[in-house]
Amino acid sequence: MQDPNCIFCKIVRGEIPSRKVYEDDAVFAFHDIHPVAPVHLLMVPKEHVASLSEAQEAHTQALGRIMVRAARLAAQEGADDGFRLIVNSGRVGRQEVMHVHAHVLGGKEPLGTMLPRSR
Ligand code: 5GP
Ligand code: ZN
Repeated sequence: MQDPNCIFCKIVRGEIPSRKVYEDDAVFAFHDIHPVAPVHLLMVPKEHVASLSEAQEAHTQALGRIMVRAARLAAQEGADDGFRLIVNSGRVGRQEVMHVHAHVLGGKEPLGTMLPRSR
């Protein structure tokens, strides 16, 4: 269920402090420690799932709830006119923390383009 060495599992358990914005039985949300937008939240399933590539049917409820809750949390934090949800996965996706998390990004002004077009 949880990985004793995972930093996001430790945040869920309260062993590492975080600025929590939401919690229910399956999901925990908190401010990213190095925000890249005026609103930058992280939403994680409480259960340890390393990446989206390892997500199973049993994780559908928690992952679905993250998508459904994201807009409300974004608006609550001031991003009330749209936001971006990003899930980096694995090496190619440049995932750094191996516990599935969705970045909720926004603010008052439009964000930069999703990825620069190289051609
Ligand atoms: P990734 O690159 O894996 O998609 O994103 C990992 C995110 O976790 C980064 O945006 C990073 O700033 C954030 N992060 C890493 N360690 C901590 C921490 O201990 N606390 C919080 N609140 N965020 C963290
Ligand atoms: Zn974990």
